[in-house]
Amino acid sequence: MFEHRACCLWPQHCRITPHLAVSANPLTLNQNPAPVLILGAGINGAALARELALNGLGVVLVDTRDIASGATANSSRLIHGGLRYLEHGDFPLVRESLAERTRLLRLAPHFVRPLRLFIPVRNRFGGVVTAARRFIGLHDRSHSDRVLHRGLWTLRLGLWMYDRYARESTLPGHASHRSTDAGIVPVDRSKYPWVCSFSDAQILFPERFTLALLRDAEEIAAGTGAEFRVLTYHEAMLVGRTVNITRVATSETVLEFQPSVIVNATGAWVDQTLEALQVESKRQMGGTKGSHFITNHRRLCDLLDGRAVYTEAGDGRPIFILPFVNQMTLIGTTDELFEGDPADATATPEELEYLVAAVNEVFPGLALTVDDVRLHYAGVRPLPFSNTADTGAISRRHSIEPNTHCEVPLYSLIGGKLTTCRSLAEEAADIILRRLRIERAANSRERPIEEREPALVATSVAWSNSQSNTASSQTLAGTGISFDAIKRVIEHEWVTSLADLAERRLMLIYHPALRREALEQLADLLIDAGLLTSAERNDAVNTIVARWRTRSLRPCRT
Ligand SMILES: Cc1cc2nc3c(=O)[nH]c(=O)nc-3n(C[C@H](O)[C@H](O)[C@H](O)COP(=O)(O)OP(=O)(O)OC[C@H]3O[C@@H](n4cnc5c(N)ncnc54)[C@H](O)[C@@H]3O)c2cc1C
Repeated sequence: MFEHRACCLWPQHCRITPHLAVSANPLTLNQNPAPVLILGAGINGAALARELALNGLGVVLVDTRDIASGATANSSRLIHGGLRYLEHGDFPLVRESLAERTRLLRLAPHFVRPLRLFIPVRNRFGGVVTAARRFIGLHDRSHSDRVLHRGLWTLRLGLWMYDRYARESTLPGHASHRSTDAGIVPVDRSKYPWVCSFSDAQILFPERFTLALLRDAEEIAAGTGAEFRVLTYHEAMLVGRTVNITRVATSETVLEFQPSVIVNATGAWVDQTLEALQVESKRQMGGTKGSHFITNHRRLCDLLDGRAVYTEAGDGRPIFILPFVNQMTLIGTTDELFEGDPADATATPEELEYLVAAVNEVFPGLALTVDDVRLHYAGVRPLPFSNTADTGAISRRHSIEPNTHCEVPLYSLIGGKLTTCRSLAEEAADIILRRLRIERAANSRERPIEEREPALVATSVAWSNSQSNTASSQTLAGTGISFDAIKRVIEHEWVTSLADLAERRLMLIYHPALRREALEQLADLLIDAGLLTSAERNDAVNTIVARWRTRSLRPCRT
């Protein structure tokens, strides 16, 4: 039926690999057309699951770890057009991203908020020649010609184009200022005579946005009767046309079915996933690592006053200094070629020094040091494989690559940003629907993305010392989050462990002064829900505390 070559066929006698423990009756799915198997529950897998559900297709979404635990949680958290992509001539990407930014500001106001960014400027004409070369296509992406100190005229031109591309935007346009003007971020006037400002948007918790996409998809599927399953900490084994879904921890097979299509939405893991499926493929990914840190440096927060700075590190790489929750500031990012398991990516001391230096360059009186780092994280960008020496020049465009070495139609999502998750999902769904000869019934262009737990997010964004000290028998220690909200989250948001709950549902990893007591209370709620045993309780709490310490130079009060 399919024209795909059957290179991954395993011999009949080993349809299930010997090390797999098979549960007595793994579930099977009989739906026509068969559900689509999506591997990877990051923002792109979730957006695609929703788009397919909207079109009545069944979905089984499998992740070897937790929802949104990959690049989605380890990003700069911007919903942006990508000003610097203009420099690389990625005009269609900028246009698409800006259109999606406008859409998300409208459809997902709980998650996406406008952000004003300020660019400190040292000179008038820096980067004009390089920008012009790139603009007319004379730039060779395989050579690094990173611009140092972009000048006022280069920036004005870029920002003018940026605003033009954001045609339907309701955000204020760009402006240029003297650094002595009132009302702008107070950058070092001795170095920066000018400052340019422009608008973009920020998504504080892409983790919760991803959950909102999935909760919406589940609700849509419940309405149409289509299959919808999210299986975290599971993996897929492909045996001919049959997929066995097994629990990572026990290798027990829980589900066996023949998907109509497989989508590899595993981001930076795309190549490893194809290898695990035993599907032949050329190298597709050339991820780069980006590190961030979060500081609760009070003066930096006051200087920003809710605004952001977009500056350059010593080597010309763009750096964001962004307002974050609870009077904290998020700073990133680096851009280094990365080989290995993306789950092992961590911020090195050198990267943290590099980012700290970039902040001090803009605000020298601040004397920020690595001791001010409260938490750091690193993610691997799912970029297409490329030979370029300049990681910043690797295209951020996405593509959907078919694989012809598999019996089941198989597509890999390459690239993609938080910002374009919906448009990438729409594009991928078009391909899948065409492949299955199904006419598109609906799309997500006007469908709101709602936070199902708004009170929880409002509390997370506004943790304050007074709230932290408020004790109540109905709320989690030091947080103001109600036990009822936590129970709903446990019930409806595919929680399987204490780490899922604390880090990617309640966002407590960003709490300025979380106490161990709160983690113990969460563990008790998981015990009540049958997701943890009393014997495992202390270990679970200790593991989280230890893990958070490795990501924190100044551990919170756990
Ligand atoms: C440092 C950095 C900064 C960024 N900043 C921004 C930004 O400000 N704005 C923006 O728009 N974009 C940004 N991005 C890009 C954006 O974060 C990513 O493009 C996006 O999150 C990718 O989502 P994804 O779902 O494709 O991948 P991921 O979020 O990485 O999800 C992939 C999932 O696949 C799972 N997985 C792995 N192997 C398997 C397997 N074999 N089977 C099943 N599941 C598997 C993983 O556990 C993971 O959950 C940034 C990225 C990085 C790294």
